[in-house]
Amino acid sequence: MRLCSVAVADFRNIRSIIIEPGHHFNLLYGLNGQGKTNLLEAIYLLGSPRSFRTSRLPELVKHGERQAQIQGTVESGGIENVLRLVIEPAGRKVEIDGKAVHKASELHGKLNAVVFSPDDTGMVRTGPESRRRYLDRAVYMGDIGYLHCWHSYQRILKQRNHLLKNADKTGLDIWTEKLAESGAEVIERRLGFVAVLDGKLQKYYATISGDSETSRLSYQPDGVGSRDKGAIRDELMELFNRHQRSDERYGTTTAGPHRDDLTFILDERPLKAFGSQGQQKSFVLALKMAEMDNLNETFGEAPLLLLDDMSSELDARRNHNLMEFLTTRKIQVFITTTERSPALLATAPHCAVFHVEGGNLTFEGS
Ligand code: ATP
Ligand code: MG
Repeated sequence: MRLCSVAVADFRNIRSIIIEPGHHFNLLYGLNGQGKTNLLEAIYLLGSPRSFRTSRLPELVKHGERQAQIQGTVESGGIENVLRLVIEPAGRKVEIDGKAVHKASELHGKLNAVVFSPDDTGMVRTGPESRRRYLDRAVYMGDIGYLHCWHSYQRILKQRNHLLKNADKTGLDIWTEKLAESGAEVIERRLGFVAVLDGKLQKYYATISGDSETSRLSYQPDGVGSRDKGAIRDELMELFNRHQRSDERYGTTTAGPHRDDLTFILDERPLKAFGSQGQQKSFVLALKMAEMDNLNETFGEAPLLLLDDMSSELDARRNHNLMEFLTTRKIQVFITTTERSPALLATAPHCAVFHVEGGNLTFEGS
């Protein structure tokens, strides 16, 4: 996939930018707070129902303006599509080739992008919520049915929690059964995705770090040991029944896939507790590369790669390993850094260079 052109207006600190990115490498450099991540975010939003930074739409619209607009021409499989997004504090509107689109699923796969940002490396050290959010987003990217089953799980969960708070608990059993049914689907899809990613992780970890530690990814849903949907449902029923008394006491569903965690393991030890910062960064980047590989296989085309704040994320050796790997692939890459790094440009052939300042963009050649 390739972004041929993109126009951004009144988005965060960007007044108006039109850019024709290079086919392969693009460097966006500029001082802190100038709008580099904002531009990556705008590109990402063209193909995704949610930003990688926030779920609050009002933040995206430039202060003092009514709406933000993002338009991009995307080439995929020899076909060009024009994607247009209008963001208002109350909602977003999407058009594909001039026609309004009402379901998020219609945008699915039109512009795939994988982001690697400082927030991503942060997810290793925080609680399970950010890893779960990463997992859900990543599963959805390659699996269009996932969004629907995830939403339906959330809806049923809300209903069950509502009943748990009520004095009258009539119907609780039915909602518990529905939750187990829907939860089993969520878990089955997550397990399938994690197995694929886990199978690819080691290769990319070795490529990026140049080290030989073994890297693994593990998703062990609470109370579930089976892989088959019917059996998972039965195990979830048992889990919910076991927790029913505490659920009633707390007025909320205290166990289930909405509480699960994704575990990162390096040399058979939890990365969170024992990994150095560099190892944690390499691990997450390897995870992202595995995700790209998976999207490539699913869609028959490589997604865009958005590398935010690359200089602060990786040391010179890892940077070099990554760039060397990327030069051999047909991937459109957007890299942001604070400096026009000569080392980086030396490894990135025909890199298009853009300077970002105060929400404006200047093309400096390629
Ligand atoms: P860094 O190198 O520090 O990561 P950056 O170039 O990536 O910097 P961005 O995060 O892209 O910086 O842009 C941050 C700027 O955008 C800040 O100055 C912030 O005040 C501004 N900004 C964010 N949201 C809005 C908005 N809705 N309206 C106007 N300006 C905004
Ligand atoms: Mg930034």
